[in-house]
Amino acid sequence: MSSSPKDAARDELGADEKEPTDLPFPSSLCHGCAARRYIRSGRGSVFILCPLLSQKYPRQPVSMCSLFQPISDDSEAKKEK
Ligand code: SF4
Repeated sequence: MSSSPKDAARDELGADEKEPTDLPFPSSLCHGCAARRYIRSGRGSVFILCPLLSQKYPRQPVSMCSLFQPISDDSEAKKEK
């Protein structure tokens, strides 16, 4: 049985939480994108949320995306505020 973002409880990782070490789909383009958010389910699984897409959870791994925004030092600083 696989878990999904629709599992009961889930939380966006807070700014004070370090990036999870158990990232899903390491080859996904989303990991290098400034738009992505990491969501941890109540069961501890990590999901990649995209606030730019209507479906929120893109089919992984993403290899091409017209909305990709490279992470810059500036974008990381904004997330931490
Ligand atoms: S914009 Fe594209 S690459 Fe960036 S998080 Fe969303 S789906 Fe992933």
